[in-house]
Amino acid sequence: MGYSSHKLSAELKSFEGVEFQVGDSYKCPEDHVAKIVWVSEDKETIAVRCPYEHFSKVVKVTDYDAPPISFMRYRTKEKEIFAKNMVFMMKI
Ligand SMILES: [Zn+2]
Repeated sequence: MGYSSHKLSAELKSFEGVEFQVGDSYKCPEDHVAKIVWVSEDKETIAVRCPYEHFSKVVKVTDYDAPPISFMRYRTKEKEIFAKNMVFMMKI
């Protein structure tokens, strides 16, 4: 069977008295369960990668549904881009 053993643990460590290690679970800034991918040497900064979607940016895209302004000139609309697996640097 090909079951993955890399399931994210829902158990989160408390803030105090625990040394964080790469591979541990931690909360991302939006309270999802994310995974620690990097710990600074002084253990005060960590990087977590979150598998959930986060708002990334707003981009302008051509709106083909709206009536064109003129021949070959289309309107634009704003589209929100969400990204998965974003990495956050966090002070702990
Ligand atoms: Zn997240």
